[in-house]
Amino acid sequence: MAQARQIIHVDMDAFYASVEQSDHPELRGKAVLVGGDPKGRGVVSAASYESRKFGVHSAMPTAQALRLCPHAVLLPVHMERYAEVSHTIREIFKSYTPLVEPLSLDEAFLDVTDSVPLFGPAETIGREIKSRILEQTSLTASVGIASNKFLAKLASDLRKPDGFVVITEQNKQETLDPLSVGRIWGVGRVTEKTLSSHGIQTIGQLRLATPTQLKAIVGNAAEELLRLAHGQDDREVEPDRQCKSLSSEQTFATDVADGEVLLSVLMEQVEEVAQRLRRQHLKARTITLKLRYGDFRTVTRSETLAEGTNVTSLLWQAAEKVLRRWQSRSAGPLRLLGFAASGLEDERAGQQLLFPDHRKEKLRKLDQVVDRIRDRYGKHAMRRGTASTIHEQRDPKDLR
Ligand SMILES: [Mg+2]
Repeated sequence: MAQARQIIHVDMDAFYASVEQSDHPELRGKAVLVGGDPKGRGVVSAASYESRKFGVHSAMPTAQALRLCPHAVLLPVHMERYAEVSHTIREIFKSYTPLVEPLSLDEAFLDVTDSVPLFGPAETIGREIKSRILEQTSLTASVGIASNKFLAKLASDLRKPDGFVVITEQNKQETLDPLSVGRIWGVGRVTEKTLSSHGIQTIGQLRLATPTQLKAIVGNAAEELLRLAHGQDDREVEPDRQCKSLSSEQTFATDVADGEVLLSVLMEQVEEVAQRLRRQHLKARTITLKLRYGDFRTVTRSETLAEGTNVTSLLWQAAEKVLRRWQSRSAGPLRLLGFAASGLEDERAGQQLLFPDHRKEKLRKLDQVVDRIRDRYGKHAMRRGTASTIHEQRDPKDLR
C-alpha cells in the first residue's frame, strides 16, 4: 500500500462575521449577522457564534434570522475585506506546502506529506498554522488532520470553534461510528431521513450495511457511502495550477429549494473562482454549474463564452443565466451547488501555456517554499531530510 498521506483541512470559524468582529471591536461578544437586506429577500452569509445559539445559520433568509435573534447586528457583505484576509491565510498555507486546495475564501486542504521532513509532523504544522493565523489576523481557525480529505474535513468540524482534531488509523473507526450519517460530506437531510427510516442513523450502522442492502436504499450512492463510512477516500489535494478548471461548491445542511438563496450562494462562488483566476493570470472560456438533487442525482449545465474572461461580472452574467434557465425548467431542492470555470487560458493573449512535468513542478514549488523560508530566517533555518528520515517521519504514527 502507498504511504499514508498527511492532509490538513483548515476552516476559519464563522469567517465573515469574525472578520467584522475583529475589525469592529465593539461587536466582539455580540450576535453579528453578515448578509443581505431582510426586505429584499436577502440571506445570511455568516452568523457569529453568539447568534447561532438562537438557531440562526448561514443560507437562512435574513428576515427569519432577525426574527430568531432580534438584537443581532446586521452588516452587509464586505467581500473585498474577506478576500484580503483570505489572501493572508493562504500565504501562511503556502509557506508549508505548494499543495493547497482552497474550497472557499475561508477553507482549504493542504497536502503536507512531503513537507514533514522539513517542518515536522503534520500535527506540528497544523498547530503552527493555527497560531500564525491567530497572530496575523486575530481570528481563530479549526484544524483537522488525517490521511485523506474526507476525514480531515470531518475532523476540522468536530470541535468548532478553535478546534484541533487528529484522526488516525487507530482512532478513525471509533471517531466515525457514533457520528450521524449526516456528517458525511454529501449526505443531506433527505438521504439522512431515508437511511434513518431503514434503521441507519450512525456511520457505524452504515458501515455494517451490506452493499446490496444499501443499494436498495440509496441506489448508486451506495458504494461511495460505504467507502466513506470506512473512512476511505482517495481524492487528491488539487492545487489551483494543476487544475484544468477552478471550482467552488457547497453542500447544504438542508436541501435548498429557494431560488434566491441559490443565486446568492452562486454569486459567492463566482466571486471566489474569478478571484482565483485573476490571481493566477488565467481566464476561462466555459462556465459550468453543478447541481446535485436530494437523491444524489447530479446534473451539470454549461455555457461557453464568446471569449475567455476573468471578470467577475461577465462570469456572473453567464452563471446567472444558466441557473435561471435551469430553474425555469427543472428546479428542485438541491443538496449541492457548484460553479466551475474551465477552458482555462493564459491571461496574456496568444501566449501558449506550458504544462511542465508534474513531479518536477511539485519539487520546484517546494523549492520555492524552502527558498522563501531561508530568505526570511537565514539559510540554516532548515535542512532537508534524507531518504530515511522521510520514510521515518511519514510513518502514520507521527500523526497521533
Ligand atoms: Mg468556515
